[in-house]
Amino acid sequence: MNAIEIKNLTVAYGENIALEDLNLNIEVGSLMALVGPNGAGKSTLIKTILKFLKQITGEIKINAKTLAYVPQRNSVDWDFPTTLFDVVEMGCYGRVGLFKRVSKGEKQKVLKAIEQVGMLEFKDRQISELSGGQQQRAFIARALVQEADIYLMDEPFQGVDSTTEKSIVEILKQLKAEGKTIIVVHHDLQTVPTYFESVALINKAVIVSGKVSEVFTQENIDVTYRKI
Ligand code: ADP
Ligand code: MG
Repeated sequence: MNAIEIKNLTVAYGENIALEDLNLNIEVGSLMALVGPNGAGKSTLIKTILKFLKQITGEIKINAKTLAYVPQRNSVDWDFPTTLFDVVEMGCYGRVGLFKRVSKGEKQKVLKAIEQVGMLEFKDRQISELSGGQQQRAFIARALVQEADIYLMDEPFQGVDSTTEKSIVEILKQLKAEGKTIIVVHHDLQTVPTYFESVALINKAVIVSGKVSEVFTQENIDVTYRKI
């Protein structure tokens, strides 16, 4: 069964067409990398799946109740006065409602997610006073708290050290083991085969998608990166 089915998707910013006639199926339980050059439309694709952006043409079917999103770090304003705990607690609002009190059980889940990303000692720290990698982990914890069916992460390894990167990879594999669908915009071609099982090579459209072992070839990579 597919978690996401995208047919003939076109998205533009004014005159600038970012995605053109894109087709992609993502199976339930996939751990998939979205790979392609800068400006290929990877972030646009994720934002369109989340309905933050409107499509011109095409159809997106989502077979899931809930989606969680980890935005690209440089797209977030980190100056607002709030603690790490509060940021992660926002992940509960889908279940609890924005103006209801968060129960003890929910707070427990928040602490567990913070622990999972190795940030417990920083839970009361202002988000603006965390390092880039720590901010990234805060947003991953917030996504974990959402207990979503589908996770969409936009470059979650950006600015994190290699130890943190490995722990995030473990979290992704854990989510997959729980049957979740995880889609990750990923920059580092070298780690695609060890971190992911499937991949979509993107440059305005999907050049190819499938198992890493089958489609992640030098030839396909060349075509994808040469096209812009
Ligand atoms: P990627 O994430 O693969 O680097 P993006 O989805 O961010 O690519 O961008 C795809 C294209 O859309 C690029 O040409 C980019 O300049 C353009 N674009 C992205 N966001 C905006 C925006 N808010 N306004 C106008 N153009 C945008
Ligand atoms: Mg991007």
